[in-house]
Amino acid sequence: MKLCRFDEGRLGLIEGDRVRDISVVLDQLPTLRWPIPAGDMLIRELPNLQDEMARARDGAPSYPLDDVQLLSPIANPSKIIAAPLNYHAHVSESAADAAIHNGVHLPGYDGFSSPVDKFGVFLKSTTSVVGAGEGVRIAFPGRRNDHEVELAVVIGKQCKNVVANDAAHVIAGYCIGLDMTVRGTEDRSYRKSADTYTVLGPCLVTRDEIHDPNALDMSLLVNGAPRQQANTRDLITGIDELVAIASRLYTLYPGDVILTGTPEGVASIEPGDLMTATIEQIGSMHVRILG
Ligand code: MN
Repeated sequence: MKLCRFDEGRLGLIEGDRVRDISVVLDQLPTLRWPIPAGDMLIRELPNLQDEMARARDGAPSYPLDDVQLLSPIANPSKIIAAPLNYHAHVSESAADAAIHNGVHLPGYDGFSSPVDKFGVFLKSTTSVVGAGEGVRIAFPGRRNDHEVELAVVIGKQCKNVVANDAAHVIAGYCIGLDMTVRGTEDRSYRKSADTYTVLGPCLVTRDEIHDPNALDMSLLVNGAPRQQANTRDLITGIDELVAIASRLYTLYPGDVILTGTPEGVASIEPGDLMTATIEQIGSMHVRILG
């Protein structure tokens, strides 16, 4: 199932180049009173909504995907967790480029077994999240603002202290993530958390539809020119281990997102540019850079 949100918060199923409107399913979500439980309500209820979604699909109106505005498939993540420096070739390019490390974020291993072992994971503001159709608005004009395409893992249920071997059971699915970044000396949470600096989309692909998340081709083009091209098999710290590491520190809630790290080829974008991000078995999304 390829689940998306579009236009004024409508719920859709992506089928080829069309989106089927199954917003009627949202009527099945529980009415909540304060204090609202942590996490995304739709992702929490997803296992209970399968039959309702199948019923809603038949006869549902459908629209060309190009005619709708795609929002983030996750409406209310309680946190966005991200891995720094998780592909060897990106570690090398960061070490070689002072504009990336700024003398502060030096990627050397320093005796640690991996960059994640050295730096841990970091958090991005949930208010940085947008969908592909909303675009990225440059928050730091005149500085180097980079694209980072990443596989995004979406947590499906509340969990803590998950062992790597069980990680698949707590994953709802996957989407494409863009971890937009301004280069500089500031902390990662500052440089990567401006409004629109986390793009999720085009849809949440449920886990059952991804044969092997550790073998997915991904690419990012800017104005049609290739910038990043990689495969998730080259992740240094793999998906299951990232879930284990994150859940040792934080209770994970439905809809929480883990950005698994970007491969080599990061480079700057400017207002007017069009990014096209693709991950095998998930899809593609077009994201405009706004001034
Ligand atoms: Mn990143």
